[in-house]
Amino acid sequence: MGERYEEKDLPRGRVGGHAGRMKVLELVAPSQFVVSQKMKPEPKKDEVLIKVSCCGICGSDVHGMDNSSGRRIPPMVMGHEASGVIEQLGEEVSGWEVGARVSFDSMVYCGVCQHCERGETNLCDERQVMGVSCEEFKRDGAFAEWVVVPARILEQVPEGLSFEEAAFTEPLAVALHAVNLVKVKPGERALVVGAGLIGLLVVQALKRAGAGEVVAVDMDPKRLDLARELGASGAFTPGEDCGADFDVAMEVVGAAPTLEKAVKAVRKGGRVGLVGNVVAEVPLALQWVVTREISLIGSCAAAGECAEALEAIAGGEIQVKPLISAVAPLEEGGDYFKRSREGKEGLLKVLLRP
Ligand SMILES: [Zn+2]
Ligand SMILES: [Zn+2]
Repeated sequence: MGERYEEKDLPRGRVGGHAGRMKVLELVAPSQFVVSQKMKPEPKKDEVLIKVSCCGICGSDVHGMDNSSGRRIPPMVMGHEASGVIEQLGEEVSGWEVGARVSFDSMVYCGVCQHCERGETNLCDERQVMGVSCEEFKRDGAFAEWVVVPARILEQVPEGLSFEEAAFTEPLAVALHAVNLVKVKPGERALVVGAGLIGLLVVQALKRAGAGEVVAVDMDPKRLDLARELGASGAFTPGEDCGADFDVAMEVVGAAPTLEKAVKAVRKGGRVGLVGNVVAEVPLALQWVVTREISLIGSCAAAGECAEALEAIAGGEIQVKPLISAVAPLEEGGDYFKRSREGKEGLLKVLLRP
């Protein structure tokens, strides 16, 4: 976890006042971070260059840092939950101005495939994700002073909203997408299994969607307190009785026991929203699901909910400030990744400032 500046990425033969390089937090080997210098990127014709204000560490970054997911192949720069200011426009970009305060979606979609045409941009056949490096593509993210982003995934940050709050655009959009998919009706009773960062946003999104009662389950008592503060009417550890016959359950962990909890907690004809995906496969109580006509609804990333996310934060319908555990310089990023991975402190969102 040492920090050192590396010269290998410096542009060769470029001189003058415009340095043309920038500071990044680079994953150089599995679970190994270095603050290094890279070339400042140039926006392509449909991209903008953003001076990054802050960027959140996502659970998927923490899980992926050891390259076990195959989605953070080093060397690479992570970071897909960012906010900042447009500094330069690509030749063909219209509708945006230099100086605009922006955040963005993590999904880079093609806009022309069958899924994009249906508005399912998160399912795009050609999709790329900011701050992800896998077999098919590599796109450096925003743990850097500057990042280039296609103009079509940008969102304008409403006046009065801080960059810290705006950095929640993408994670909140993920929560809103999942809640939109399960189609909560006013007054319905909902259970949220897993009150981590996304789970706590899901709790609030369910309330916002009209759920009459939202109950949270988590192992961490601090998170249960926070769930109550943010609108849950009940909050329980897995061993406690959380109630039964919920209309909707949201699984926000992605493991066997939590899926079972969610599936067993809904009423006949109930719906289970599947958001967590820590493990690739889990056993399923098939007969229980079939004979009780339980709908299992997978939800991945977001498909156009970023504007809704910013509105919900700006309008005070969703609280994100209580979810910020730390705002730290990029240089402390490696340390925060390690501490998030260890999980002892119950860190929720850590925002890094380049
Ligand atoms: Zn994320
Ligand atoms: Zn597409």
